[in-house]
Amino acid sequence: MAAAPGPARPTAPRPSGAAKAPVPPPNPLRLRWFWITLLVLLAANLFITNILLAPAQPTTITLPYNVFKQQVAADNVVTVTTTGDAITGVTKAAVEEPGTGTKATHFTTQRPSFADDSLEPLLEQHGVTINAKPENPPIPFWEQLLLSFGPTLLIVFGLMYLIRRSASAGAGGLLGSFGQSRARVYDAERPGTTFADVAGIDEVKEELEELVDFLKEPQKYERLGGRVPKGVLLIGPPGTGKTLLARAVAGEAKVPFFSQSASEFVEAIVGVGASRVRDLFDKARKAAPAIIFIDELDAIGRSRSSGLRLGSNDEQEQTLNQILTEMDGFEPGTGVIVLSATNRAEILDPALTRPGRFDRRVTLQPPDRRGRAAILKIHAANVPLGPDVDLDDIAGRTPGLVGADLRNLVNEAALGAARKAETVVTSADFYEAIDRILLGTERHLMLSQSDRERIAYHESGHALLGLLVPGADPVRKVTIIPHGGALGVTVQSPIDDRFNYGEDYLRARIVGALGGRGAEQLIYGVVSTGAANDLQQVTMIAREMVVRWGMSAKIGPLAFAEDGQSNALSMVRPYSEATAREVDLEIKRIADECFAEAMRLLTENRNRLDALARALLDEDSLGEEQILSVTGLKRVQVAG
Ligand code: ADP
Ligand code: ZN
Ligand code: MG
Repeated sequence: MAAAPGPARPTAPRPSGAAKAPVPPPNPLRLRWFWITLLVLLAANLFITNILLAPAQPTTITLPYNVFKQQVAADNVVTVTTTGDAITGVTKAAVEEPGTGTKATHFTTQRPSFADDSLEPLLEQHGVTINAKPENPPIPFWEQLLLSFGPTLLIVFGLMYLIRRSASAGAGGLLGSFGQSRARVYDAERPGTTFADVAGIDEVKEELEELVDFLKEPQKYERLGGRVPKGVLLIGPPGTGKTLLARAVAGEAKVPFFSQSASEFVEAIVGVGASRVRDLFDKARKAAPAIIFIDELDAIGRSRSSGLRLGSNDEQEQTLNQILTEMDGFEPGTGVIVLSATNRAEILDPALTRPGRFDRRVTLQPPDRRGRAAILKIHAANVPLGPDVDLDDIAGRTPGLVGADLRNLVNEAALGAARKAETVVTSADFYEAIDRILLGTERHLMLSQSDRERIAYHESGHALLGLLVPGADPVRKVTIIPHGGALGVTVQSPIDDRFNYGEDYLRARIVGALGGRGAEQLIYGVVSTGAANDLQQVTMIAREMVVRWGMSAKIGPLAFAEDGQSNALSMVRPYSEATAREVDLEIKRIADECFAEAMRLLTENRNRLDALARALLDEDSLGEEQILSVTGLKRVQVAG
């Protein structure tokens, strides 16, 4: 397994397709709630009448009719009560039920319909009190009342509850308190965050500054007739600072900030999402100029036509419709801007991105090296750094990490220093923290010597090819200590971020990824399951080369891949059956060629492979310098 960032994907363009008007909410929801409530109430009613009202019964046994007659003859029966042919009664001494051995003084028995009528004289003869009940006894008056009015009353109360709750979240009152209790969340914050707390956003800063300007002086914009955006969508991978940036806009403009995560609209109680939205927008309008921030918009804003959406979800749809309605209802000059964040813009409902809604998009990219250094600087500002710490160098070793990771990195380094009771955070602390973050935490597994040897050869294969193949990323570290889900790890990181990949680089990645399998094949003649991750990588890169980047002569300079979505997920393949076959063959050809190259290099450098594996078995982990000295190779120069 090799830990290196995957190839960059171009960001998705706006989803195209006909935008749908929001459907006015038909309230299927309230209807469903009505039925649910009704069912619950009926169940409650049954429970009350059947269980609670039933009198406590003493233990009663069932006697065969002839045993019963014997008991009468033995003068043991005190009273009997008949209901039709069913007889219940009480005995003086407890009687044992035949078969079960249960003893009780209360019994029931069934008189056979063919029985002769000698029972009555028998009973009288033995002084048994005889009672009789009609077969359908009248129901007591209060029970009758409860049975006839109870359900009605329950339903009436239930309906009142539903009506009051859906009538308004803000109205309050005993029964309308659900929406109300959430309303407290919408108290405005006034964030102290500013643009100075966000680094690496130079490209989008201007656009956001315009927003700040507008919030500060809405009149100025209106006078000039400029159209101010109602909604701005912040798009970017998790941890790139979307939430942070939204707060910074509010902080810069010094306006109230109403923030809510879209999933919180719908999570707690079904049926309140829309009223929460209304509540939120009302409060913001009253506090204008203000910012409403809806985080994780994709939680409710998924495209309604998307094939990936399983079933429909009324709750999400209602909430989404309410947001759209509120945004449509903004008068110009309301002074409220809706910011929203998502990391998956391509799945959003097109209705959201229509003009007058979230019509501005601000895309945040993972930071480049300079950006990472700047972010590190912000987060290290309050940490005492040792003189040897070079944040620039650390930024160079952390390609692919985003703002949240970098904050975490500084934190981990500081914790490590504290554990060692150091007074300052040293560069060694940072390097250890980088390892922990890139590799995951170490796992303690008991591995047999033969397993360790196999893993050592596998990782040595990766590392050696990383050194031998021109254009590969430099190998920083190799270890056979299990980390996270991997049994061994080879860390390669580019000297600088790449936004553009040459074919030779991609092939070098594939050859390197096949190095583990190649080494196992060379040494043991068989391969193990340990290469599964590597093969996934190989397949992914080779596939993209063919269908996205036009790097196969057979297929030609065509891009078949849809932007934004992995091919496996899209329902329709945008090419013919014949092309699909060709694509598969091309992917296989690339993988085969690269594997042959890997085997050739490993065979030629067998002594280096052995040396590296032996060193790994001795040391568990090798750093860059050790790897170079064991193999006697030089660091590969990455072409600009
Ligand atoms: P997102 O909302 O995009 O997932 P967040 O805004 O929640 O990311 O980022 C989490 C934390 O990471 C922030 O609070 C901040 O401390 C740090 N961070 C992220 N991006 C940046 C950045 N560009 N500059 C400075 N800090 C950042
Ligand atoms: Zn591997
Ligand atoms: Mg966030």
